Amino acid sequence: MQFTSDNAGRVHPKVMEALLRANEGYASPYGTDEIMIRVTAKIREIFEAPQAAVYLVPLGTAANSLILATFAQPWDTIFCHQTAHIQEDECNAPEFYTGGAKLTLVEGANGKMDAEALKDAIGAEESRGVHGPQRGPISITQATEKGTVHSLEELQALCDVAKHFGVRAHMDGARFSNALVHLGCSPAEMTWKAGIDAVSFGGTKNGLMGVEAVIFFDPSSAWEFELRRKRAAQLISKHRYLSAQMETYLADDLWLELARSSNLAASTLARGLEQSPMARLHNPPQSNMLFADLPRKAHQHLHEKGASYYLWGGSLEGGDPDEPLTARFVTDWAASDENTQAFLAHLRDV
Ligand SMILES: *Cc1c(COP(=O)(O)O)cnc(C)c1O
Repeated sequence: MQFTSDNAGRVHPKVMEALLRANEGYASPYGTDEIMIRVTAKIREIFEAPQAAVYLVPLGTAANSLILATFAQPWDTIFCHQTAHIQEDECNAPEFYTGGAKLTLVEGANGKMDAEALKDAIGAEESRGVHGPQRGPISITQATEKGTVHSLEELQALCDVAKHFGVRAHMDGARFSNALVHLGCSPAEMTWKAGIDAVSFGGTKNGLMGVEAVIFFDPSSAWEFELRRKRAAQLISKHRYLSAQMETYLADDLWLELARSSNLAASTLARGLEQSPMARLHNPPQSNMLFADLPRKAHQHLHEKGASYYLWGGSLEGGDPDEPLTARFVTDWAASDENTQAFLAHLRDV
C-alpha cells in the first residue's frame, strides 16, 4: 500500500533491459552518442517541433533551474505558484543557478496561478527603476503540486500574460505525461501551441531511473544552455545511459502507457475515498496525485496496517482522534489494484 511518491517506485523492466543493451562496446560521450541523435529526432517528432533543441539531465531540479537560468537575468524575478516545486522543494537551486534571481509567488486555487493575479504580479514589477527586480519568466507546473491539471485554456491564458509583458514561459513537467493523458491532447498543444517556450519533460517519476529532457522550442537558447549545463556539472559523460532510458520511454508510447496506469490507480483510489463517509477529497482525480482529509484515527489504523503516504502537516500521534489531517497519495506506474483495494478495505474497517 505504497502511496508515498512516484519516485519511491521501481524502474520499468524495459528500461533496465535498454540499459543492458546500451552497455556494449564504446559510445561517444557527453551527449554525442548515437542514441541521443535518435532521441532528439523522436522528441522533435512527438512535439511537432523540428527546430527544437533537446537535452537530457539526470534531475528535475537541474532541468528547471538551468532553463530558468537561461531565461532570467540575475536581477529578474521569476513568477510561479506559491506551492511550486521551484519554490518549496529545490533548496533555492533556481536562485543559485540564475545567479540570484528572485521568485515572486502568485496565488491561485488548486495549485494553479490565477491569470489575473499573475498579470497583477508582473505588472507590479519594473515600477521602481533600477531599485526593484525586473520582469523575468513565468514557470507553470503541469501537472501541479496539488495533482491538478491546467486545461489548455488555462495554459493559454497564463502564457498570454507572459507574452503581453514580453517574458518567457517555462513548464515544469515532472509529471508531464500524467497531465497529457488526462487532457488527451497532443504534446504540442500542451506546450508551444499554448505559448510555452521551454519544458522540463519528466521521466524519472514515470518509470525511468533518472532522466528528464529539456526542450527549447526556440533553439536560439541552445548554446547558452549547453554552457550552463556543463558549468553546473550536469553534463553526464557516459551519456548513452541517459539516452537509452529516454529512447525506451518514448518507444511504442511506453511513457503514455505508464502514465495511464498510474492515473488509473489514482482514480480507483479516489473513487474509494469518495465512498468513505470519513474522507474528504480536495479535488477530483486528474493525475496520479490526490489530497484528502481523513480523521487522525483513520490514518493511525492505515499506518498500523502498513499503508505508506505523507501527511501534509499534522501528526499521527496524540491529539483528537477525529481531527481531520490531510494526506497526499501518489500512485506510480506499477501500482497494483490489489494493494489499492486492500487499502480501501482497511479504511472501511475504521
Ligand atoms: C519531482 C519533481 C521535480 C524534480 O525533482 P528532482 O528530485 O530534482 O528530480 C520537479 N518538479 C516537480 C513538480 C516535481 O514533482
